[in-house]
Amino acid sequence: MNSDHMPSAKRIITSLVLTAIAAISASAVSTDQAFEKHASSLRTKLKDRDFTVVVERPFVVIGDDDPETVKQWAKGVVRGTVERLKKAYFTKDPANILEIWLFRDETSYRKHAKEFFNDEPSTPYGYYSPSDKALVMNIASGGGTLVHEIVHPFIEANFPSCPAWFNEGLGSLYEQSGTVDGQIYGYTNWRLRGLQDGLRKKVVPTFREMTSMSDREFYREATGTNYAQARYLLYYLQEKKLLVRYYKEFTANAKTDPTGYKTLQRVLGERDMRAFQRKWEAFVMRLVY
Ligand SMILES: [Zn+2]
Repeated sequence: MNSDHMPSAKRIITSLVLTAIAAISASAVSTDQAFEKHASSLRTKLKDRDFTVVVERPFVVIGDDDPETVKQWAKGVVRGTVERLKKAYFTKDPANILEIWLFRDETSYRKHAKEFFNDEPSTPYGYYSPSDKALVMNIASGGGTLVHEIVHPFIEANFPSCPAWFNEGLGSLYEQSGTVDGQIYGYTNWRLRGLQDGLRKKVVPTFREMTSMSDREFYREATGTNYAQARYLLYYLQEKKLLVRYYKEFTANAKTDPTGYKTLQRVLGERDMRAFQRKWEAFVMRLVY
């Protein structure tokens, strides 16, 4: 190599490196700026009204409770949930800046869902509206639904082809959750009773049927047990310390096994899924809430 070329090659490399560094820091700064800008435009829009706006990335949290309470939700439940979900499952943040609206009671929730989003919620607790880029919550109903809804935009960003059964199973699992050994952990909750009733009445579908439901079919809740069945399947995996592995293998193999059923069978190590279903049913019948 001609030594005359060395300085110019070095110069090019140096300038490339500097450009790359500038690009990285510019994007980091602009993201921070984008969140602040989003928050400040909300503050302008809500001027003279009793709302507090807090940036809690990847969200902007807005609430009409007293400012300290809104900040506590943001720095407590929202931050803690995001941290623990990312630790266990998710590498990507949602692609858009999402708003979390915490309305202080059901009246405020319904009134403002209509005013800001032209929505008439079908649930008294809260919901995620991808088209509004917003989680809309009646926070008087507690933090459970908030945690549930936070799962959905992360699934959307990290597992876009995720079927409803897994998306809702995971959201539902963490409605009632805490931290065990530094990991997010779902406890038994109110959905247990309906599932036990369904099992007694023998209306709960097989796992092959449940996992292969279209989203529409899953949400139709023909037997009223779909959310609960999905939740307590994931609860079972959690108890066997297989849930995070199942998520990883499901996402890695989603092209060849889009329902997750084959992956489920493999991760469980069960050859006979009918026998597994009976074992799971007995497990569920022994649970208490
Ligand atoms: Zn949900």
